[in-house]
Order: sequence, then C-alpha cells, then structure tokens
Amino acid sequence: MHFSRIHTCLNCFTKNRISARYLTATGQCAICKTRFAPVSQPLDVDQASFESIVRLARVPVLVAFRASWCAKSRNAGSELRQLAFEMAGYGLVLCVDTDANPDVIGTYNVRSTPSYALFRHGQLVLQRNRFLPRADVLRWTEPSAARAGNPLDSPWPRLALS
Ligand SMILES: [Zn+2]
Repeated sequence: MHFSRIHTCLNCFTKNRISARYLTATGQCAICKTRFAPVSQPLDVDQASFESIVRLARVPVLVAFRASWCAKSRNAGSELRQLAFEMAGYGLVLCVDTDANPDVIGTYNVRSTPSYALFRHGQLVLQRNRFLPRADVLRWTEPSAARAGNPLDSPWPRLALS
C-alpha cells in the first residue's frame, strides 16, 4: 500500500491525490490546473506510510520518532514545523508516534524520544537518539546530505517543477 496525500484544491475544491514521490513538487489541480505548493509542514504518519515515503521520495526525509506522553517530543514540535517550512520542496519531515507504531522502536533502534533519523534514497544515513534543536538538525543534516552525494551539490535539491 503506497502512501498518498489528499490535497483539496483551494480554487475548485477538487480532491487531488498526491503520491509520496511528488510530495515535494509543485503540483497542479487535475481539474482547474491551479498550482499548489510542496508540503511545508511535518506529516504525521504511521509506520507503513513512513516506509512508503522513505522508499519513494526523491529528497531527504527527516523522521522524528515521538511519543505523545513525552514532553521533549512535544517541545520538538515547533522546531520540526520550522524545519519542514524551511525544507519545503527540498526535503520532508515526518513524525511517527512510537506508541501507535511500537514496531519502529525495534526496527529503527529508537532508544529515547524524540529520536531523529535521516533517510536519503531509501537508506538510513544518520540517526540520533536525543533531542536536537533545529539549528543542530540543520547542521547535522547538511554535511551528511553533501556526503551522501547530491548531484546538484546542494543539501536540499529543489525538484524540477512538473
Ligand atoms: Zn482545482
């Protein structure tokens, strides 16, 4: 089951289905052709959706494993929103609730919450089992993105507009 997101067109209210592959692209409504912006906020997803997005997305994906009862997880919310806004079109921020998706704890070796994992081309390239302020997340992801071999030589490749 592939992840897809429903975007309601603000012009004609058509519901457009956007696959994981195009979450960071500028899209257009299938009916009226009104353009809409790439995803610019963290997406709350379950494990199946998270793994589908990681597999299909063409940009880096930062995943925050969070627990709803965890104060540090809640406190990370504003930082993650800011990060998702800055990365719009270049990368994705996903939030996975570890209580609702307990299997991720073992699969991704989550030892505390929030825990961050960065994926590129479907591969886990970095993981930190501790809270990181936004500035640190950016510092931490940019060099790794460069090391991971970005053809555009930029930490967050901007996709060609479709
Ligand atoms: Zn429309």
